[in-house]
Amino acid sequence: MAVIGIDLGTTNSLAAVYRNGEAVLIPNALSEPLTPSVVNVDEEGMIWTGAPARERQLLHPEDSASSFKRFMGTGRSFSLRDKNFTPQELSALILKRLKEEAEQYLGEPVEEAVISVPAYFNDNQRKATKDAGILAGLKVERLINEPSAAALAVCQIQNVEEASYLVFDFGGGTLDVSVVDCFENVVEIAAVSGDNHLGGNDFDLKIAESFCEKHGFVFREMDALKQVALLKAAEKAKCELTQNSAALYKAELDGEEYGMFLTNQELVSVGKDIFERIFEVVKRALKDSHRTIDDIDEVILAGGSSKMPVVALYLEEILEKKPVVVGSPDYIVALGAGYYAGIKERNEEIKDVLLTDICPFTLGTDIINPRDRSRPLMSPIIERNSVLPTSKCGYFMNAYDGQKNVKLGIYQGESYYCDENIKLGEINMEILPRPRGQVHLEVRFTYDINGILEVEVYDRLKEERVVTVLTGGSGRLSEEELKERLAEMKKLKTQPIGGERVRLVMARGERLFKELTGSEREIAAMGLKRLNEALSTQNDQLINHVRKEISDLFDNLEAGS
Ligand code: ADP
Ligand code: MG
Repeated sequence: MAVIGIDLGTTNSLAAVYRNGEAVLIPNALSEPLTPSVVNVDEEGMIWTGAPARERQLLHPEDSASSFKRFMGTGRSFSLRDKNFTPQELSALILKRLKEEAEQYLGEPVEEAVISVPAYFNDNQRKATKDAGILAGLKVERLINEPSAAALAVCQIQNVEEASYLVFDFGGGTLDVSVVDCFENVVEIAAVSGDNHLGGNDFDLKIAESFCEKHGFVFREMDALKQVALLKAAEKAKCELTQNSAALYKAELDGEEYGMFLTNQELVSVGKDIFERIFEVVKRALKDSHRTIDDIDEVILAGGSSKMPVVALYLEEILEKKPVVVGSPDYIVALGAGYYAGIKERNEEIKDVLLTDICPFTLGTDIINPRDRSRPLMSPIIERNSVLPTSKCGYFMNAYDGQKNVKLGIYQGESYYCDENIKLGEINMEILPRPRGQVHLEVRFTYDINGILEVEVYDRLKEERVVTVLTGGSGRLSEEELKERLAEMKKLKTQPIGGERVRLVMARGERLFKELTGSEREIAAMGLKRLNEALSTQNDQLINHVRKEISDLFDNLEAGS
């Protein structure tokens, strides 16, 4: 029974497996390693996932969901046509697809997966990810932090036993920078830092905005479908710049065709703010890990946006160290999950490793703000980036003469003021009335790898202990709900494997038909007609032949030739 590793990404997902002494990527039914994390429901209630779903999203944004990873572990739901989905269910649809494709590729059943999650995911988000696995029919015993996965993969691929890495993971909408140490089969995160709203999408937006501005339009004033089309064209030009020194950005504005040449130099100037934000995140990761760049053996590039030459150059400039690419930034996290899957399969060639978790945020209590009593201040007890499990103590005294009650708020966050942090709970206790400073309270926070926080307050004078356990339960499914959802999931009609190539070309044709006008539109219609005719013959060979031909035709249409 195979165990696979899955990088369940905000933008793209992919799977890997450990075979013959190394982790290898599992191609999807389109023979590509990356599967867009997009779900779409069509007119007939059929569920689409991956590249065809992303294609349909351009035309039917309201019937599609993407970036749902952002909402894992929250109560948010997505309504696609007449159906409602939780982020767990949408993720499950992607996972199920990857599982089925892996089974087909490996020729054996896949029952278990190791799924990677951002290091800063809290307990709710982690449990939601496990629930998604269950809903997809997968056993998920272990999750692996994305930067740990990247580091593990690099150690395994380069056959290194001991190293410190700075993992720079720049995806579609998030930037995660981590310092990870590997030693004696331990993979330990020293610090994580990030920006939850910074990624390749921001470049697309900046490019599209500057394109509109150049031609006297305002991006924000365009209708939603136009914006989507402009962003897609911007992304295409951006990706071309990975290989070429210039790219042509072409799009229609107000019925007229406009063009703009984009170079890497221009990318640097439109992305000025983006680079400044990258700098902040990198600086904080190093600082929080108490390292300087000289302590780092290698800077590892991960995530699709790390492929941008301007990003790698910028990193080299600020760090004075050349970042390395091991395999491809797109695959390194999935490969790490694949190595860990190999460990879970108990492959003999690969030694077990211990993965440690960290607490990505600071936990503390409130204390009186002498200048403004209505705004208590945060007193940190467990600092962010502590390795788990951890247990730390804070010492407090009564604040005024004769105080009889202590109300201790428990907070999570980095802000100086408690009201800007997240309140997790509260402990109320009675103390003996004494002059100020004579009642001593010992507050112990214990945070374990399951994200359970235990707070213990010990009153030395009364020799009394009060203990509270905080598990943070919102957005989770109960056992009952999980069973119900599982039954619901089984009823959903999903696209069978096979035929996705044709479906992708069809969806693309439908989009082109809507986007184009005049003779180009007629060509798109002709292509769709040929495809439909071929499909009705049910002759696979013919379908395949026509599909290739029409796909080329659409390529030409999109290239604008
Ligand atoms: P996530 O981890 O969020 O799922 P990915 O690591 O798959 O995301 O990265 C997706 C992002 O990478 C997108 O913004 C995409 O435009 C960008 N990207 C992918 N390939 C390239 C490329 N060749 N050049 C520039 N950007 C790229
Ligand atoms: Mg990623």
